Amino acid sequence: MNWGKQILISLIIITLATFSLYSLFHSIKSPNNASNAVKQDIEPWIVETIPSGGPIFSVLEKQGLPLKEIALLSFRFGDYIDVTTIQPGDTLKIMLSEDKQRISKMMFVQEPTLRHHFTVAGDSLVYNLEALPVTKQNRIIEGNLQGTLDATLLAMGLSSRDKQQINNGLEGEINFQRDARNGDKFTVFVEERIFEGKILPGRKIFYVQYSGERTGSHELFRFEDKEENSVLNGLYNLQGKSNSSSGVGFPLSVIHVVSKFGKRIDPFFGRWANHQGVDYRARMGTPVYAVANGTVTAAAYSGGWGNEVRIKHPSGLNSQYAHLLSISVRNGQTVKKGQIIGRVGSTGRSTGAHLHFGLIQGKSFINPANLKMVGAEKLNDAQMAEFKAQQERIRVAMQSLQNPAQLASTGK
Ligand SMILES: [Zn+2]
Repeated sequence: MNWGKQILISLIIITLATFSLYSLFHSIKSPNNASNAVKQDIEPWIVETIPSGGPIFSVLEKQGLPLKEIALLSFRFGDYIDVTTIQPGDTLKIMLSEDKQRISKMMFVQEPTLRHHFTVAGDSLVYNLEALPVTKQNRIIEGNLQGTLDATLLAMGLSSRDKQQINNGLEGEINFQRDARNGDKFTVFVEERIFEGKILPGRKIFYVQYSGERTGSHELFRFEDKEENSVLNGLYNLQGKSNSSSGVGFPLSVIHVVSKFGKRIDPFFGRWANHQGVDYRARMGTPVYAVANGTVTAAAYSGGWGNEVRIKHPSGLNSQYAHLLSISVRNGQTVKKGQIIGRVGSTGRSTGAHLHFGLIQGKSFINPANLKMVGAEKLNDAQMAEFKAQQERIRVAMQSLQNPAQLASTGK
C-alpha cells in the first residue's frame, strides 16, 4: 500500500476533519464536565508514558495490537514527528477500534506544549498539531571554568544537549587538555523558551565565547539556513568553519528522522527486527548526496533495498543509500563529497518515499547517529555573506540585553 499517497490525501482533507473533530469534542465536553466520576469511567484513551530508551511503540505491544498495525502506525507517526525529538516522559494516548485490532485515534503529547492529534479515517490519516504558546527569552550566561567545561556548564543549569553543542563547537578551536585552566572565562548567549514560568529543554545557542591566558580568545556564532531543519544550522567560527566533524556529511540537505537505527517492528513482516540504518523523511525526487569522497561499489536494484548505491570511502567506512527512485552514478565511479548520487524514492521493501541511509564499518552496520555528521565543513561564499549579517544581528541582540527593558519578547 502507498502510505505516502494516503498522507497526501489526508493533508488535503485536514481542514474538513478539523471542523468535524471540533464539533465532536464540543459535543462531548459538557456532559464530561458535569461529572468527574463519570468521566473517569468512560475515559476512552489508553495512556502510555514513553520509557527512556527502547522504541517508543513498544508500549503498544502490550495492548495486543497486531505488530504490523503498530509498525505501519509508527511510520506514519515519524512522517510528522522527527523521532529524535521524543523524550522519555512524553505521553502517547490511543483509542482502539471496536475489535481492538486497530488504532482509531492517537494523541502524542510532547510535554508540555505540543499535542499531535492523529485520526484514522478508513485508510487515511488526519494529522493536527495543537501548539500551546511559549514565551521566548534571550539570555547571556557567563561563567568561569571550574574543572571540566562539561561540569561547569551543567553546574550552571545548561542541559546535556546544550553542553554537547558548546563542547563540540569549541573542541576544534581549543586544546582543552593542554591549555584550559580554572578561571578561564566563557560567555554563552542563548534563546530560551518559557512555559508557565519554566524553561523548556533545548536552548538555541547563538553565541559562545571562550578566553583564557593559554587558550586565547575564541568566538563561535550560530548560522541559520532558511530551512528549519537544515543540516547547515549550527555553530561556526568567525571564518565559517564547523569545528566538530567526523568528515562525514549528511545525505540530504534537510533532516527529519522517521525511524532510528536499532530494534523496531518491521513494517513488512510484522515482527521485531534490527533496523540497520536511519530512515530520513524526504519527498520523492529529493537529491541524495555522497556523504564523503569515495568509489561507488554498488549502483543497482538490490531486492528489498530497491535501487541502492554503496560507496567505499578512504577511511574504510562504507555508506549505503536505499529505496532510490533513480541512480545517477555507475559502479566503479569516483565520487566527491556532496555530489548527487541519486534521488529519493520508494523502491524495494518501502512503505513510502524516504531515504534509508546505512553506514558499514568492517562487516557490520553502525549507528550513523554516533558519528559527528555536519552539513558543511565550511560555509561557502554566499552562506558566508549571510553568516556575517547574522553575526551582526546576534551582536546587536546581545548588546540590547544590557537594557533590561528589552529582556523578554513574546512570540512563537
Ligand atoms: Zn530503513
